[in-house]
Amino acid sequence: MQIWNEPVSTPLQLIRDEITEKAGIALYLKREDLIHLQVSGNKWRKLKYNLLEASKQGKHTLLTFGGAFSNHIYAVAAAGKISGFRTIGLIRGEEHMPLNHTLAFAIESGMQLHYISREQYRHKQEPAFLKGLQEKFGDYYLIPEGGSNAMAVKGCTEIIADIYISYDYLCCPCGTGGTLAGLIAGTTDTNQTIMGFSALKGGTFLTGEINELLTAYRQLEPHHTGTTASWFIQTDYHFGGYAKTTPVLLDFIRWFEHTHAIPLEQVYTGKMMFGLYDLMKKGYFKRGETIIAVHTGGLQGRMPALDAS
Ligand SMILES: *Cc1c(COP(=O)(O)O)cnc(C)c1O
Repeated sequence: MQIWNEPVSTPLQLIRDEITEKAGIALYLKREDLIHLQVSGNKWRKLKYNLLEASKQGKHTLLTFGGAFSNHIYAVAAAGKISGFRTIGLIRGEEHMPLNHTLAFAIESGMQLHYISREQYRHKQEPAFLKGLQEKFGDYYLIPEGGSNAMAVKGCTEIIADIYISYDYLCCPCGTGGTLAGLIAGTTDTNQTIMGFSALKGGTFLTGEINELLTAYRQLEPHHTGTTASWFIQTDYHFGGYAKTTPVLLDFIRWFEHTHAIPLEQVYTGKMMFGLYDLMKKGYFKRGETIIAVHTGGLQGRMPALDAS
């Protein structure tokens, strides 16, 4: 468990190209993707306090939920293996053989996979359903889908504690909104704006979820100082919905990777960077402003087709 208590620091990398120059802004990528090969990016931050808590409660099993391509499932399987927890992953939908890269890795890491129907999956938060799981699998520590809870928010505030320059905007991609909630909760400078980019269609629902996570975080950490930052979610860069792509998105990712030698993926970080570049081109930011975008990792799910051009 010691590994989760060690401080983590990731590089802040200046990104310069014709578009940042023309917009007159300083753009940095916070390279959270470099935290760990398998428990990468925001997943490390979100799991940290959950695993410490599971250990404190004397639990030996982690149980969580996800889709068949979930970065969260991948990260929990790896984190469990690293720190000696048994892991159980409840996967939405039916089993497809051969297993994809994500689920094959989960099994290799010792995770027990169980498939549940989409109908059952919708009940995954309900006490009766969770009690049934207890009867089936024994005592476990529950990590919600995507890993988002008050402890995940706490872990994500530490992304900010590891930034040592001043800036105007802090950005990250959003799935459940847990990471964005952490950036909001960790911000104390009211001149800064926190901006999320929804990876899902209809991302306005995220605002309510994030407010709930912030409330839960305040209960966990009554003495914290943040959560007064101004924040909002860009909802126009989902490219058709969660995990959907278009040739325009994939071409942008290829251009960015080629220009900067930094890998992105098509579900989260590619969409955020596309959105940021679109806003820069449209003159959304003032000249002289500084933007930090959090590279949340997820490269295990990077589409091999991105390598073809
Ligand atoms: C899981 C994930 C996200 C989504 O994070 P939330 O806290 O659920 O909003 C963003 N980026 C990457 C790369 C991820 O794997």
